[in-house]
Amino acid sequence: MQNKKIEEKNTLSYGTIGFFVFLHIGALFAFMPSLFSWKAVALFLFLYWLTASIGICLGFHRYLTHKGLEVPQWLGYLLVFCGTLACENGPLKWVAHHRMHHGGSDTDKDPHNAKKGFWWAHLYWMVYFQPKFDRKEVLDSYCRDLATDKFYSFLDKYFVMIQVALGLAILAIGGWSFVVWGVFLRLVVVYHVTWFVNSASHTFGYKNFQLKDDLSTNCWWVGLLAFGEGWHNNHHAFAQSARHGLRPWEIDMTWYAICVLRALGLAKNIKVVKLTRIPDAAPSESLFQGEIIRKAA
Ligand SMILES: [Zn+2]
Ligand SMILES: [Zn+2]
Repeated sequence: MQNKKIEEKNTLSYGTIGFFVFLHIGALFAFMPSLFSWKAVALFLFLYWLTASIGICLGFHRYLTHKGLEVPQWLGYLLVFCGTLACENGPLKWVAHHRMHHGGSDTDKDPHNAKKGFWWAHLYWMVYFQPKFDRKEVLDSYCRDLATDKFYSFLDKYFVMIQVALGLAILAIGGWSFVVWGVFLRLVVVYHVTWFVNSASHTFGYKNFQLKDDLSTNCWWVGLLAFGEGWHNNHHAFAQSARHGLRPWEIDMTWYAICVLRALGLAKNIKVVKLTRIPDAAPSESLFQGEIIRKAA
């Protein structure tokens, strides 16, 4: 009790709210027929995959946060740069928040504790400054292994400016149609798809593993939209595994990208789960047990 500090209150973060509202309004312009073109749709789909699957899921999440695989440093930087193009903070803050989530999933140690409701986990947790999770020294304590890297610090500091530079380049190449589809609509879609991992994949779906205090689920439509990240109960059970889809129907697009890197000799020491079915497990119990093994090459 003597160490218990008076907890600082959460305060609304008007900058974040304004940024989200601005992007959502910009995305609505995609409905204007004059801003539609198939080339813009193709750009949207390519950047959706590049920034969400290759950038966030592979770069920020499986590589940087959980160290599920090793890649050459130039490739690691490239993956993390693609993640920065999703504009969900730079890598250091993203990794720190996500490690907090795993440190006490769905408890008061979790910045997006799903027990506080679907919309809290989806979005509301970000529109507040939560001193307990957002103070610099707290964030730093969760990513000390990465914070000395000057490139990651640079990306953390300038991720919005990098997005603006991308927007200007896209504007020069394809005009406002490209900007609306390739930046505004793409960011809004990638945001919600990422956020569904924290909300829908802690609410809907089935569990292969029963975990204490932890609401994580495998939600098939998040699995598809978020390139494998929706098999989130598997991920919570074995956070280091670079493969999230473990059963035959659990399609994991990001894992397929890792397989391509492995075939090219660019990914090694890949951590995966070796699963064993638990005989006669009741539906309310874990259906499998497993252990992390390494694929050498
Ligand atoms: Zn989770
Ligand atoms: Zn994770």
